Amino acid sequence: MTTIDLSEVTSADLEAVSQISREADVDPDDCYQCGKCTAGCPMAHEMDLVPRQIIRSLQLGLYRRVLTAKSPWVCAQCQVCSVRCPQEVRIAELMLAVRHAAKREGLRPVRETDIFDDIFVSNIRSQGRNNEVFLAAFYNLQSGHLVQDVANVPAMVARGMIGPRINHVKDKAAVRRIVDKVLKKGSSGSSDSLDTPSSPSSSVAPSSPSSPGQRDGDAQ
Ligand code: SF4
Ligand code: SF4
Repeated sequence: MTTIDLSEVTSADLEAVSQISREADVDPDDCYQCGKCTAGCPMAHEMDLVPRQIIRSLQLGLYRRVLTAKSPWVCAQCQVCSVRCPQEVRIAELMLAVRHAAKREGLRPVRETDIFDDIFVSNIRSQGRNNEVFLAAFYNLQSGHLVQDVANVPAMVARGMIGPRINHVKDKAAVRRIVDKVLKKGSSGSSDSLDTPSSPSSSVAPSSPSSPGQRDGDAQ
């Protein structure tokens, strides 16, 4: 069992956790640690902190712990956890907000996920839609996994799943505007809606963990 010293949690950590909460528009304090999210998570076996532990760590203000965790980068954003939660805690959004926070601080605990995401988004931004061939080629080059999935290529070509033809969308500029708006939201940590300009009163109140020393329970 890992021992956690809550006296090391600073006010800056608490504010940073509150920012994650605001960006996700989710209050971790709504969680009562039943574990249903973790029981249904298809990626839990790959995580260093399972979803329930990520939430508990956020409740306790353990900012550095969640920021360096692999879990948010392994999360497939499948939403199973959010659907299963009896408290309607949208864990997937929290996972994403943690990733954004880590990126803002120059951290990427799972390098491959970051590389894949960047190429995927760049692909959508420039072409209006994803191109599997470009995605795979650039990912393999940048990640150094040069022959990853190469053995599957002949079968994918034969089934028409991939090919040299690029299907352009009609209005690439519109897609680019949407992507840029989403990227701006992620890089700023804003909880603004994409469609509705925010007003200060529309923000969800930040999670305000009380003094770390007053919190009981573990983050295990
Ligand atoms: S399912 Fe919801 S209440 Fe239960 S541990 Fe997960 S986040 Fe907390
Ligand atoms: S969204 Fe992420 S954390 Fe939630 S169940 Fe899916 S993989 Fe697990």
